[in-house]
Amino acid sequence: MLDVVIRNGIIVDGSGSPPFRGDVGVKGDSIVSIGDLSRVRAERVIDTSNLVVSPGFIDLHNHSDLEILAVPTADNYIMQGVTTLVTGNCGYSPAPISELNKDLYLARRRKTIETIGGIRWGSFEEYLDVLDKSPKATNIAPLIGHGAVRSSVMGAENREPTDRELGEMREIVEKAMKAGAFGISTGLIYIPGVFAKKHEIVELAKVSARYGGIYASHMRDEGNGLIDSIIETIYVGLESGAGVEISHLKAAGRPAWGNVSRALRVIEDYVRRGYDVSADAYPYTASSTGLEAIFPSWSREGGVYRLIDRLKDRETFNRIVKHFERSGIMDERYLDWGQIYIASSESHREFEGLSILEIAEQTKSDPVDVASKILIDDQGSTTIIIHSMSEEDVREAISHPLVAISSDGSVRKPGEGKPHPRNYGTYPRVLGHYVRDLKLITLEEAIRKMTSLPARKLGLWDRGLIRPGFKADITIFNPYTVNDRSTFQDPHKYPQGIEYVLVNGEVVVDEGEHTGKTPGRLLRKTRIKTL
Ligand SMILES: [Zn+2]
Repeated sequence: MLDVVIRNGIIVDGSGSPPFRGDVGVKGDSIVSIGDLSRVRAERVIDTSNLVVSPGFIDLHNHSDLEILAVPTADNYIMQGVTTLVTGNCGYSPAPISELNKDLYLARRRKTIETIGGIRWGSFEEYLDVLDKSPKATNIAPLIGHGAVRSSVMGAENREPTDRELGEMREIVEKAMKAGAFGISTGLIYIPGVFAKKHEIVELAKVSARYGGIYASHMRDEGNGLIDSIIETIYVGLESGAGVEISHLKAAGRPAWGNVSRALRVIEDYVRRGYDVSADAYPYTASSTGLEAIFPSWSREGGVYRLIDRLKDRETFNRIVKHFERSGIMDERYLDWGQIYIASSESHREFEGLSILEIAEQTKSDPVDVASKILIDDQGSTTIIIHSMSEEDVREAISHPLVAISSDGSVRKPGEGKPHPRNYGTYPRVLGHYVRDLKLITLEEAIRKMTSLPARKLGLWDRGLIRPGFKADITIFNPYTVNDRSTFQDPHKYPQGIEYVLVNGEVVVDEGEHTGKTPGRLLRKTRIKTL
């Protein structure tokens, strides 16, 4: 007697092998059998004729570290068929927290932190324990963020760490790895990652490598300096021994367009020589980040509250205006204020969905004044969407065999702000728009890039495939109707065609509806012996 039998589905098993018809048997939290199970009895039979049965999707690049505590049902991910979120990306993890970084980390996530009743941890291990005990619909596989590590030891200062500080940072990473982190991430455009030199990153990535962890990076420059950044990232991997994950691979800004394929040639070259280098990407030509990121890095020294002080100071403000005139927005001449949209603003809901240029025209003011005023009024929490990529580059990235599909989004509260549609539509968009409609890649290849490819990268040996003995994270969808419905104008729309989602053997989406169940787990990396 089984718990669930998924009958007569088109099994796309995550390995990249062609689809085949069969039944899948689930007992407890695991897949126990595949084949003809027509004579096997089960508590629950799901008839899936003409539906695709796939491993649950694994989002290698996610930012739900705090949001999963605020919205445990993780609706916008579960409804896409995502069963595991990899958090702690872009150098940002909500731990460790010390006196030196607690304000810095409160700024952008202030509201979420209020919702969850404040920060109840100091160390990364304590944070994992909170995460472990909280109900959640998806599994969480955490990375530790270099930004949190660095700022907990030396604040947001623009300098190299002393030997003692570096030693302290190493120890923090070591403890996090022992507690089950899957690796370390950096965000080298953000405070304080932007101040870190290669040596520091290599030293910390070495600790991750010792425990079989990866090095994931939001690189220093995703525009004209893309290739240099790719080489820097790979260098860290080679020097430290950690597998390299290039986060949200893109070529941002018109002058850089076309460089994704050059970047991929570099990655291929190292893979051919036996190194573990790969990337992930989302299927949209716009990115999203905090508004503070567009300001010059010197103006962000000390964190977003210091930036706000500087914006309020006439003289420094004028220097910032000059910087924009001379070097452009985000130090790239290509970007103009018409490409930057307000995604969420606590104090200016009326501006959500509008570009900074549009707001400037509406309010008859200067764009720098507009950006500055919104950031000050929001006390640093504003998020933006930047339209800066080419469709060709996006296709190049998402179709490449070394690139996993990731969303770069986070769990959302329905109706709040105008977040990037990737939060709601990434996976169905690839399956519907790029696989079925444009035939960019095959269905089995797309699913491999959403399942076994990220699982293998993480060393997650019991997820990402439909195989007996693997955990029963399963997504069942209609290949003829699956698609995203979320748009930039109307983002809070769940996709269509995702019919059933099982997490650890429990049915979380049933006939297209969220059951409210929260069978997700905190995944901890199993320690491997050092070779
Ligand atoms: Zn990032």
